[in-house]
Amino acid sequence: MQTGPKYIFVVGGVMSGIGKGVSTSSIGKILQSRGYRVTAIKIDPYINVDAGTMNPIEHGEVFVTTDGLECDQDIGNYERFLDTDMHTYNYMTTGAVYLSVITRERNLEYGGKCVEVVPHVPEEVMRRIEFCAKKTKADFVLVEIGGTVGEYQNLLFLEAGRMMKLKSPKGVLFVMVSYFPIPAMIGEMKTKPTQYAVRSLNTAGIQPDIILARSSVPLDKPRKRKVSVFCNMQEEDVISAPDIKSIYEIPLNFEKDKLGDRLLEKFGMNKRKARGLEGWRAVVKNAQQAKETVTIGIIGKYFSTGDFTLSDSYISVIEAIKHASWHQKKTPRILWLDAEAYEKDPRKLAELDTLDGVIVPGGFGGRGVEGKINAIQYCREHKIPFLGLCYGLQLAVAEFARHKAGLIDANTTEVNPRTKHPIIDILPEQESNVAQKKYGGTMRLGAYTCKLIPGTKAYAAYGKPHVEERHRHRYEFNNEYRKKLEDKGLVISGINPERNLVEIIELPDHPFFVGTQFHPELLSRFMKPHPLFFAFIAAAGSTKKKQSR
Ligand code: GLN
Repeated sequence: MQTGPKYIFVVGGVMSGIGKGVSTSSIGKILQSRGYRVTAIKIDPYINVDAGTMNPIEHGEVFVTTDGLECDQDIGNYERFLDTDMHTYNYMTTGAVYLSVITRERNLEYGGKCVEVVPHVPEEVMRRIEFCAKKTKADFVLVEIGGTVGEYQNLLFLEAGRMMKLKSPKGVLFVMVSYFPIPAMIGEMKTKPTQYAVRSLNTAGIQPDIILARSSVPLDKPRKRKVSVFCNMQEEDVISAPDIKSIYEIPLNFEKDKLGDRLLEKFGMNKRKARGLEGWRAVVKNAQQAKETVTIGIIGKYFSTGDFTLSDSYISVIEAIKHASWHQKKTPRILWLDAEAYEKDPRKLAELDTLDGVIVPGGFGGRGVEGKINAIQYCREHKIPFLGLCYGLQLAVAEFARHKAGLIDANTTEVNPRTKHPIIDILPEQESNVAQKKYGGTMRLGAYTCKLIPGTKAYAAYGKPHVEERHRHRYEFNNEYRKKLEDKGLVISGINPERNLVEIIELPDHPFFVGTQFHPELLSRFMKPHPLFFAFIAAAGSTKKKQSR
C-alpha cells in the first residue's frame, strides 16, 4: 500500500449550492470518526485574492480563521464538523494562486523559463495542497473545488487534481456531488444532467470514483443502474444524498450507506470501525426531539436578492444559534428582520416583543444603522435578551451613549465622520489603510486575547479569565468615553490586555444584554456550542417562561 496522505477531491455536477461544502465536511467527519487525521481545503475559482472583498449577498458570509484569513464560508463548515481549526493554507483562490506564480516569476525563481498557465498554475495549486498536507500531518486531505464541472473557471484546479492522480494513482480519489432534478411536470427523477456532468469531467481526464446524488429523495434501483451504465461506475458507488432536516444528519446517512468503508477500500486500506460518532448522534437526536422552541430575530441588511431571501450572509450566526439551542434541547426558530424597516416605521419595533431574543450581527456602512439602533434601544428598555456581534456592540454603545449618557449625536465615525461624539472610532493603524484605499486583508483580523472581568455575565458564561476570539473590524470603542459610560451603568466585561481595547460590554440590570467586538459565532461548533451563545439562548428561554407564567 502506498504511504503518505490520501487526497479526496470533491467536485460539483449540474449546479452549485447543492451542499458540496457540507458533503466534504461530512466525508471528513466519517473518516475522522475512524481515528484518522483529516483536513480540508477549499478552492474558490475567483480572481479575488481572498473573500474579504466580496459582498456577502453575492458570496455569502466572509469567514475568518484564527490566523486572520478572510475566506469562504465552507471553511466554517469544515471547522463546525471537524472541530479542528483551519488556517491560511486551507484556502486558495485563483487570484491567490496567480499572485504567487507572478511574484515568483518577478523574483526570477523560474530561472528564465517561459512561465505558462499549464503546467505552472496547476503546479502551484499542487504545491499548496501538499503544503497543507505537510503542515497538518493529515492522513486525509479533502480538496473541495468550488463551482461546477464544465465551467471554464475551475479547469486549472481539475487539471491539478488530474496531475496529482497521475503522480499518485492510489492516493487520489474523486467524488462528484451532483444534482438529480425531479421536474414537477414530469414527476420523475432525471439522471441526464449528471451524465453530462460526468462526461464533462471525463474531458478533463478525470473519472469520478463516487457520485453523491443530491435530490429531494433517495435514488431508486433503476436510476442507480442508469448512472452506473452511462457514467461507467459500480452501482454501489452511486450514493444517495436526499434532502434532510439538518446538515448534521449527513455524516450519519453517509455512514449508513457505508461510504467510509467504500473510500478506505478504494484506497486499498483496511476497514476501521467508526467509533467517534456516538456523541454526534446524541445531539442530532436532541435536535430532532426538542419540544421547546426559542424564537430569535436577526436584524440585518444582507438578506434579499431580487425576490429571494438569503441566509448565507449570516451562516455562522445561524449555526451558532442552532448549536446552543440543540445542546439545551430547544428548537430554534430564526426570523430575518430588516433593519431599514425599523428606521422607516418605529411602530414596527413592537414586533420584537414576540421574540425570545434579538441578535444584531456584524455589518458595514450606514444603511440600516438607525433602524438597528432603534431596535437595540427597544431591547434594552423592554428587557429583551440581546446579543450584539461586532457592529452590534458598536451600535449598542452608540445607543447607550445617546439615550443614557445624553450624548445626543453619538455615533461611529464609520457612519458620521463629523459626529461631536465619536463613541466608536477608527483604529489608529487603520487610518492610512482607508486613506490609501488598501482594503484587501487589512482589517484587524484573526484571534486576539480577551481578558474577562470577574463578576460579569461574560465571565460567568466562559468560566475562565482569558479567551481567544476572532476579529474582523476597523473601528473600535473610543476609550475617551469609557469612564463616562461606565458611570452611567455600562459594564466593560472584556478587554484586550495588550492594547486595552474594549472587547465585551454588558448591562447588569437586564436579563441578557451583551455585545462583543469579536465574532463568537466563528468559534461555535456542532459539538461545542459557544459559551456566549449558550448563555444567550439560556436567557432567551427563561424570558419566555417568565412571560407565559
Ligand atoms: N464596520 C465595523 C468595523 O469595521 C464592524 C465590522 C463588523 O461587524 N465585522 O469596525
